[in-house]
Amino acid sequence: MIEFQVRFASERACAEYLFERRWPEGFVCPGCGEGRAWLLKTKAFTYECAGCGRQTSVTAGTIMHASKLPLTIWFWAAFLMATHSNGISALQLQSQLGLGSYRTAWMLCAKLRRAMVNPEREPLSGVVEADETIIPFRTKNDPIVVPAGRSGVGKMLVAGAVEVDGGTPRRARLKVIEGFGKHDIHAFVLGAVAPNTRLVTDDWPSYNDLPDIKHKAITIGPMAAHIVLPWTHRLFSNLKRWGLGVYHGLRRTNLQHYLDEFVFRFNRRRTRHAAFDTLLGIGARTAPVPYHVLIRKAA
Ligand SMILES: [Zn+2]
Repeated sequence: MIEFQVRFASERACAEYLFERRWPEGFVCPGCGEGRAWLLKTKAFTYECAGCGRQTSVTAGTIMHASKLPLTIWFWAAFLMATHSNGISALQLQSQLGLGSYRTAWMLCAKLRRAMVNPEREPLSGVVEADETIIPFRTKNDPIVVPAGRSGVGKMLVAGAVEVDGGTPRRARLKVIEGFGKHDIHAFVLGAVAPNTRLVTDDWPSYNDLPDIKHKAITIGPMAAHIVLPWTHRLFSNLKRWGLGVYHGLRRTNLQHYLDEFVFRFNRRRTRHAAFDTLLGIGARTAPVPYHVLIRKAA
């Protein structure tokens, strides 16, 4: 933490890190692939391409783009959210970073949370456990959105899946669902896992007849879920404990984003440094270089 504080003490240090991560081989114009550029004096950390004149900021395309907050604040917030094993609430963030308003802290958290799903992530595959659970939601100030008597009142339904490799959990998925019927369960599984996955579930019939999935349903007694589906069971209990511990209970509003945050941290529990880059919106961006740019560099 001290190391982080020393390294990213200034706007310049943060901008240099961003530059380094985005263009490890030197600046490359995202418009035309040109490598020569001028650093503008009038705009902070912005380069103007010598080829096409396009201006590119080091934060372009990241969640920090056009933000009024200093980069140091973004870096700190991403660091705390990515490395803290339980994550951090807006209130904690506000006090840790000395932010003037709760609203600023809340917006920061919300933006970072929305950067937690990689749109290009690969579906789970191999052997995958799937199960569903019920989470009581926090009711204080909660608008009543469902008329009494319908299913879903007073509770939130969540479907979960964990990829298991040789008895060890790898990646997970969590999704808010409307019901435990076939429609919702199938939509969840088909969105989360790859074809030909070996899906392990309990004997809940909604998992039957999934196209292109090798399904194994295990009949279990009411107390034995943690034996047959140990990893989804653990995922759900950790999720509930986290929701209570960090947020004093999850709310219905934005629940999916909170599930995304939980899964983000779970999936990166061994690669916290990469998690930091991903959160700032630079992790995914450094790897793919357009083909024509690669060609040009080689030539
Ligand atoms: Zn250009």
